[in-house]
Amino acid sequence: MQFHQLAGRVWLCPGDPDPAAVQAGVAVVADERGSVIIDAGQSPAHAREIRAALHAAGLPEPRWLVYTHHHWDHVWGACAWPGVEIVGQVTGQELLRAEAARPWSHRYLREQVRANPRLAPSFRARAFAVDSWDDFAVLPPTRTFTDADELPVGVLLRHVGGRHAPDSTVVLVPDSGVMLLGDSFYPPPAHLREPDDGPDLGLVRRLLDDDYDWYVASHSAPMTRAQARAEAG
Ligand SMILES: [Zn+2]
Repeated sequence: MQFHQLAGRVWLCPGDPDPAAVQAGVAVVADERGSVIIDAGQSPAHAREIRAALHAAGLPEPRWLVYTHHHWDHVWGACAWPGVEIVGQVTGQELLRAEAARPWSHRYLREQVRANPRLAPSFRARAFAVDSWDDFAVLPPTRTFTDADELPVGVLLRHVGGRHAPDSTVVLVPDSGVMLLGDSFYPPPAHLREPDDGPDLGLVRRLLDDDYDWYVASHSAPMTRAQARAEAG
């Protein structure tokens, strides 16, 4: 697990390329005043590995943790990031309050899969990712916004919503020419997906902007503007 510099202040630590692992990558906007980490990792153990990689790369400790949306593989590592302010869209705060109240354990995951077999891929990945529930908590954001926010270190947040998650937010780093897309244009999560659901290419087209050179989704390699344009059709 390693950070590499994408452009300017933006560093990426990719997730597991195996889709069955359901492990999102994370990004860091490095800043001496306090870095911004975008997404938390899929578990406390994953977050600790990311934190070690951050230190190995010599990047300043994060002061803000931004959620691109409320899905577990982006937020379950939050409880292992000390001293950060958690920033997220207000709809996600409500959803995460409900997630935080669930009695997470391996037994609970098994019961849920028995009740709804479509949850199996996601819930098995969760059981595999979390070794111990002792130090585990789902943390809703404490700083929320409705449409947009700007962090003091020049990082812009823009709510885009969409069918993947109602709270999907893109993160813009104008000085580095990078737009972080999260999962915003992906189809709905597997247990809610219909056979003809595909990526929301219209959403990608609307986001393309000549001021941004890089477009980064959470579960794939970064795209240049030309690649993103080709992808969007
Ligand atoms: Zn997602």
